[in-house]
Amino acid sequence: MTTERNDPPAASNFIRNIIDDDNRTGKWNQRVETRFPPEPNGYLHIGHAKSICLNFGIARSYGGVCHLRFDDTNPEKESVEYVNSIIDAVTWLGFEWQHNGAEHLYYASDYYDKLYAFAELLIERGHAYVDSQSAEQMRTNRGSATEVGTPSPFRNRTPQENLDLFRRMKAGEFKEGEHVLRAKIDMSSPNFNMRDPVIYRIRFAHHYRTGDTWCVYPMYDYTHCISDALENITHSLCTLEFEDHRPLYDWILNQLADAGVFQRPLPQQIEFSRLNLTYAITSKRKLLQLVTEGYVDGWDDPRMPTIVGVRRRGFTPESIQLLCDRIGVTKVDSWIDMSVFEGALRDDLDEKAPRVTAVLDPLKLIIDNFPADLTETCSAPVHPHHPERGTRTFPLSRELWIEREDFSEAPPKGYFRLFPGNRVRLRYGYVVECTGVDKDANGNVIAVHCNYFPDSRSGTEGANSYKVKGTIHWVSVASACPAEVRLYDRLFKEAQPDAGGRDFLQALNPDSKRVVHAYLEPGAHETAAEQRFQFERHGYFVTDRIDSAPGKLVFNRIVSLRDSWGKPS
Ligand code: ATP
Ligand code: MG
Repeated sequence: MTTERNDPPAASNFIRNIIDDDNRTGKWNQRVETRFPPEPNGYLHIGHAKSICLNFGIARSYGGVCHLRFDDTNPEKESVEYVNSIIDAVTWLGFEWQHNGAEHLYYASDYYDKLYAFAELLIERGHAYVDSQSAEQMRTNRGSATEVGTPSPFRNRTPQENLDLFRRMKAGEFKEGEHVLRAKIDMSSPNFNMRDPVIYRIRFAHHYRTGDTWCVYPMYDYTHCISDALENITHSLCTLEFEDHRPLYDWILNQLADAGVFQRPLPQQIEFSRLNLTYAITSKRKLLQLVTEGYVDGWDDPRMPTIVGVRRRGFTPESIQLLCDRIGVTKVDSWIDMSVFEGALRDDLDEKAPRVTAVLDPLKLIIDNFPADLTETCSAPVHPHHPERGTRTFPLSRELWIEREDFSEAPPKGYFRLFPGNRVRLRYGYVVECTGVDKDANGNVIAVHCNYFPDSRSGTEGANSYKVKGTIHWVSVASACPAEVRLYDRLFKEAQPDAGGRDFLQALNPDSKRVVHAYLEPGAHETAAEQRFQFERHGYFVTDRIDSAPGKLVFNRIVSLRDSWGKPS
């Protein structure tokens, strides 16, 4: 089967309008260059996927390129493990950073030399100074929302003095916290980010890429805009919480442009609202807590909103793209309901997933008048709306597995499935009439008995003369394929588990994972990893990419057929 990628025409949004304007005025000579800048300090989650789809999607649709840049300037928290997981996640989502034969994978840590040289330049030009106040003094002197800040007593050090101190900071002559380098902007600015922000601090920490070469590290705000300018980024898209940082972004780049380091136009920062998904958590810190305290089985637990988690759960990259298309891009923070995501998933999977019969809670059905040595072959479409995908066949014999809930000894009103004296159709097979049950010593039903009507087979003329109200699914005991099925549900039972600083652990759904031993129609034995199916009447399932193997099938429930949340079950 060939899959062709037909991206729908992208819906317009305020970011595309800005780019269209730039293309009209020729600001960038029609060049569009974006970047996705994760810090490799954890696994990416579904919120990051929005940023990935936006940045890579915009670049792709304008024929431009999106850089993958590791924003790795916090030596203590970063690692190669996280770098690799981020590369995998972006690739799995269907994006690439190669463009016209060039590789656009970057590390902010590769810019340490330049960042340092630019800091010296800012010092020389009187735009930065070494401050030797304690952290506590600096905090106090920063002022408040109603009070302007107090200039540091070290603010008027000469460039020569600052340069000497900064070089000695770099040489390791001082302890952590003894000095910092600050941009010299405006201690009375209403914007706190402009009150002489720290741009370098001393850290005697081992960096996963630069080792022990450095003991001074640049701050995020300083690094980010310079990395954008060094990479010739045109549109720097980030989430709304950076809106207040934009004046600093522009200030730093303008100082360096004035100094002749960068050409104008300078990259433009544009903010958009982050993705908040109900019944999920998108804070790296809290996700880490779920993993380290054992509430889930690792970063790739199928209940986790991490990209490795949703992948293992069976979500498709296309469904994530569809979600992002449906929620669009705005400047207003809002909560997206998990059902929107699940809806995108069902829409994607309904088309793709081959159908299979699976009995998740098996109860034996014995057709007493079916000859013990007889096996008949039944057939069903692989996909009901795509006859060209062919048919599947499976045997029907005397003993079958049916779903326990498809039999009732004392049926409630409106129950049309099996009960003594009632007739149902075995899907793709015959009409049977229930004759009785076998019970164990405790009175539990262990098998159901019935008789079949040989002239009632589906697809034959006689079939129409039997009017039954219920159809049930089944698999033949002799040829059924056993499988472990993990029935996953939402990890939290509340829509906003961490709203208002609440303890999100209290909102964990105790029934988010249930494991059953099921029987599938034969033929599933050879199923490869990460194959998705619709189990008829049950929902969408995927073979677990870690634990499943030919001969030992393990399936994860991706999503049920219908949204049953908030409704009585
Ligand atoms: P941290 O607290 O570690 O900074 P972070 O979630 O901001 O966590 P980054 O690695 O800095 O992680 O994020 C990379 C990019 O993804 C940033 O541009 C950030 O704005 C974006 N991003 C993060 N969370 C979301 C979200 N929920 N929705 C949309 N974009 C997001
Ligand atoms: Mg961040």
